[in-house]
Amino acid sequence: MTHRSIIHVDMDAFYAQIEQRDNPKLVGKPVIIGGTSSRGVVSTASYEARRYGVYSAMPIEAAKKLCPEGIYLPVNMEKYKKVSSEIYNIFKRYTKIYEPISIDEAFLDVTGKDALEIAKAIKSDIKNELKLTASVGISINKFLAKLASEADKPDGLTIIKKDEILSFLRPLPVNKIWGVGPKMNRELNKLGIYYVRDIQNYDIEVLMSLFGKWGKEIYELSHGIDERPVEPNNLSKSIGEEKTFLKDVCDIDVLLKALKSYSINLSNKLKKRGYLARTISIKIKYKDFTIENRSVTLSIPTRDENIIFDTAKYILLNKFNINKEIRLIGLILSNLIYPEDPLQLSMKI
Ligand SMILES: [Mg+2]
Repeated sequence: MTHRSIIHVDMDAFYAQIEQRDNPKLVGKPVIIGGTSSRGVVSTASYEARRYGVYSAMPIEAAKKLCPEGIYLPVNMEKYKKVSSEIYNIFKRYTKIYEPISIDEAFLDVTGKDALEIAKAIKSDIKNELKLTASVGISINKFLAKLASEADKPDGLTIIKKDEILSFLRPLPVNKIWGVGPKMNRELNKLGIYYVRDIQNYDIEVLMSLFGKWGKEIYELSHGIDERPVEPNNLSKSIGEEKTFLKDVCDIDVLLKALKSYSINLSNKLKKRGYLARTISIKIKYKDFTIENRSVTLSIPTRDENIIFDTAKYILLNKFNINKEIRLIGLILSNLIYPEDPLQLSMKI
C-alpha cells in the first residue's frame, strides 16, 4: 500500500458564513440561504439555523415552519464563486495536486510534506485573509481524510493516524461508508449491520456473494483501505438527465425535443454550481433494453445550453444508427471543471 498524505478541506456552512462575514447584523443569527421563493430548497443553513433542525436540501417552506424567525437570503452565486477561487488560490501555495469536489470542498495530496503544518497554514490563511473558517481532515487516503474533516465541525482540524484507523471507523454508522445510501443502509440493517464495526467483522466472502464487487469495496473501506488518487484535473463527477418514454419512440423530433430540455436544465445546473463541462455523452436504451453510449469531448469547455444541445444533436445524428425503437434517452455532461482554475483551463486535451 502506498503511503500518501491527504488533506480534505471543507468550508463550514459556506454560503451562510460568507453572508454573516459581510453583514455583521447576521452574526449569531439563524441565516438560511436558498432563495426567497417558497418553492425553493435550502442551499446552506448557518449553524444557528441548524439548531432549529434546518438542513441543506430541505424545502424552504419546511424550513420556515421550523424557523420562522430565520433570515432567508437568496443565493449570491457570483460572490460565493469569487470566494471559492480565493480559497483555491490558497491551496495552490501548498500543492499542485488538488481535486475540487465542489465550490467549497477539495482534496489535496501533500505526500512527502508535513501535512499537519500545511493544514494549519491553510486554515490560518483562510481565517486571516478571507475571515472564514474551514474544517480540515488529514489521513492516508481520501475516504479517511473526509471523515476526519467531518469529525469536528466547525473550524476543526482532525488527523486520523495509521494506528487509529480501525478504532476511528468502528463506532461510525454504516452509512458513513461511501456509496451506502438509504436503500443500501436498509439492506445492510436487515443483515444486522448497523455500524462500520459490523462490516469489519463480517465475512468478506459472504459480502461478495451478496453484493459482488461492491461487497469487497465496503469491506475494504470499513478497514480504511481506499486507493483512489487525488485527481487534479478531474472533478470525477458528471451530471445528467434521462427519461423513459411512455411509449417507445422512433421519431427524431421527439428525441431532439427531449435533448433540448435536458440541455437547458443541465446548463442551468452547471451555472448554479459554477462548473463547465468538457465531455458530452448520449445514452440510449432500446426497446430490447440494449444500451449504447456515444460521446464528444470539446476543445473548449462549456456551460452554454445551445452548444450543449448542438453537440448532443450532432452525436445523435452522426454517432448512432437508429433503426430500433428507443425506450430511453439520456444526456450526460462529464469532465467538469471550475473556470476559476487557470491550471485546468490551460490544460490541453
Ligand atoms: Mg462545506
